[in-house]
Amino acid sequence: MNIISDSLKKIKPSPTIAVTQKARELRAAGKDVIGLGAGEPDFDTPNNIKNAAIKAIRAGDTKYTAVDGTPALKNAIIKKFKQENNLKYTTEEITVGTGGKQVLYNAFMATLNKGDEVIIPAPFWVSYPDMVLLAGGKPKIVKCREADNFKLTPAKLRKAITKKTKWIIFNSPSNPTGASYTKAEIKELSKVLIKNKKIHILSDDIYEHIAYDKAKYFTIAQIANLKNRTLTMNGVSKSYAMTGWRIGYAGGPKEIIKAIRKVQSQSTSNPSSVSQAAAVEALNGTQKFIKTRSKEFKKRRDFVVSSLNKIKGINCLTPNGAFYVFPSCKKLLGKKTKLKTDTEFVEKLLEKSNVAVVQGSAFGLPGHFRISYATSMQKLKVAMIRIKSFCESLN
Ligand code: PLP
Repeated sequence: MNIISDSLKKIKPSPTIAVTQKARELRAAGKDVIGLGAGEPDFDTPNNIKNAAIKAIRAGDTKYTAVDGTPALKNAIIKKFKQENNLKYTTEEITVGTGGKQVLYNAFMATLNKGDEVIIPAPFWVSYPDMVLLAGGKPKIVKCREADNFKLTPAKLRKAITKKTKWIIFNSPSNPTGASYTKAEIKELSKVLIKNKKIHILSDDIYEHIAYDKAKYFTIAQIANLKNRTLTMNGVSKSYAMTGWRIGYAGGPKEIIKAIRKVQSQSTSNPSSVSQAAAVEALNGTQKFIKTRSKEFKKRRDFVVSSLNKIKGINCLTPNGAFYVFPSCKKLLGKKTKLKTDTEFVEKLLEKSNVAVVQGSAFGLPGHFRISYATSMQKLKVAMIRIKSFCESLN
């Protein structure tokens, strides 16, 4: 009898984590690899947040906490949603998990029955389809066009909806493209969802604070009359450079939050007490840090986009958020270069030029690759020179 479950066989390990691991191994073997695969800010967690954690340890906040978040953290989240998104939630409408990833996983485990469909616009964050599969659901991938800035259109959304649709996922700004939906675009998509009353909306706002547009950020629950069907997920990982602390959260209908609590009570019990104390300071303390770091990210984005567009065979849109770009390498695939796929492209790039990026097919849109520019300008400069000479060697 095979020890591994059938549902686990349907999924693969996270390809972005795999690339990061491969780069780490090559570096350990003495290769001068520049890793542009990781989805985490290179900045350190701000000191006021670290100090809050140290204080919590000293004060003995080292025990189990309430299953889905301490009252102090839930209050800080309620305040954040009200002030930044004009969303009013009560304590029973908030859940805290071990990273946004766990909140999403809990949500699918709590709500999906066999065969329930989840609409996932592609390119997508690598974990969505596999989480849906693990929970017994069916990912319904909807490919978005580069000409639409990789964004879902109302027509495509309408076409993807079936009687079995349970959730639709929105991720703005997006991983892997960095594209964000405007208020007008969200309104148009909402019209379709308002008509389809059974569908729930999962808004993944994890990159909310890494945005370069002057335009204000909008999340779907705030605009349309859809709050009673929307789970608005966010977290401290990206905004506050706290990936290792593992705190994510969501606001949503009581019934779903309660079901998520049930899943969590039988899995992790609660997110780390110390990390929760740190997250309270992240949300309640100074927010100055967000602006200065976004400015730095913007400088890097501008440099990376303009460098890539100078390379023959590469085309790169200018995204307005997150810390990723998703250039096309289609013109470099084919008989002439002997590279058949984006996966071959990124493998050769790593092998010949020591730059680690992730193939677009991992995100559901082949012919592209993802670069994370959450690394120093110095490394980015070297990486761009290497990518250029690699691509020129193919032409
Ligand atoms: N959602 C998206 C789109 C992401 O890119 C990530 C992390 O890479 C997450 C959610 C989860 O982040 P975390 O679990 O660190 O909160």
